[in-house]
Amino acid sequence: SGYHKVLEENRKLYNQVQDLKGSIRVYCRVRPFLPGQSSPSTVGSIDEGNITIVTPSKSGKEGRKTFSFNKVFGPSATQDEVFLDTQPLIRSVLDGYNVCIFAYGQTGSGKTYTMSGPKNMTEQTQGVNYRALGDLFKLAEQRKGTLIYDIAVQMIEIYNEQVRDLLVNDGLNKRLEIRNNSQNGFNVPDASLVRVASTMDVMELMNVGQKNRAVGATALNDRSSRSHSCLTVHVQGRDLTSGTILRGCMHLVDLAGSERVDKSEVTGERLKEAQHINKSLSALGDVIASLAQKNAHVPYRNSKLTQLLQDSLGGQAKTLMFVHISPESDAVGETISTLKFAERVSTVELGAARLNK
Ligand code: ADP
Repeated sequence: SGYHKVLEENRKLYNQVQDLKGSIRVYCRVRPFLPGQSSPSTVGSIDEGNITIVTPSKSGKEGRKTFSFNKVFGPSATQDEVFLDTQPLIRSVLDGYNVCIFAYGQTGSGKTYTMSGPKNMTEQTQGVNYRALGDLFKLAEQRKGTLIYDIAVQMIEIYNEQVRDLLVNDGLNKRLEIRNNSQNGFNVPDASLVRVASTMDVMELMNVGQKNRAVGATALNDRSSRSHSCLTVHVQGRDLTSGTILRGCMHLVDLAGSERVDKSEVTGERLKEAQHINKSLSALGDVIASLAQKNAHVPYRNSKLTQLLQDSLGGQAKTLMFVHISPESDAVGETISTLKFAERVSTVELGAARLNK
């Protein structure tokens, strides 16, 4: 069929696709010091996939801990470099794979920078979201003679275990249901679905999403660090020769801050938020751990986040986690616990996992 011809023509892409199937990859990224920061870095050394963290100890003697991942990006890594290592995964969506990319780390460690970009973004500092869609448009255009693609996006937020639409004006006031439908990949069928054909379309939509989210923030003070936001890209390709339809779906998730909250110090709304975040991040860890152990039962149902990502974790899906750390020494406690969580995730081979859907 035309689809196979495309793959044949691009042997390298095909091999990369095979290589990534059913696996979880973990990339660690270290944020640079921000202007005005000057404490010594907790990062002792970076050597390909290994990162060594220097931990101060009370007796004055330093401790060292090394963690291993598929890749470690140091503070000077550019958005270009980061994207280059993400591209093969993203491209496989056009071949009908489900992909999930998420950004994990404490608030301020650079999750939004990686996924979207900084506030005053230039072309150079655009994050994975923009680059991913730009790349999909480009590749779809190249395949135009053999396959016709339809690309549409949804943008939702999960806040206090409630799913909300970020692409409509009053979206934060309406709760949406998650209904797993592995046949067409629409897990939140009632969220706005918008067809996109250019990077400009995507820019506009992201602005709408960010604006809608900011409205919630005035009432609840920096809502974005306490909610998960998810850009879902639905791709449908029709093979012009055989008429076969390929469906792929990609979730790009900016997770809520992973910092532990001292329960003795917060109450009310803030405590509720912390408990929900805790619950969903640990549910994510449990799902991945249980896939790793090939358990018959995978506890997807334990949080909205894992329900949403169900089709993109395990089986043939490809998952990439960007784990972010801050270099400051006063963040070392969070840094170590972030890296421990990530290491638990990274040893995983999902290919043979039995799924309980
Ligand atoms: P988070 O989403 O984890 O809360 P942000 O992405 O908002 O963190 O990053 C916190 C601050 O650090 C922002 O001002 C951001 O622009 C900056 N920053 C993060 N990562 C980088 C980086 N790799 N290079 C330059 N600045 C960065």
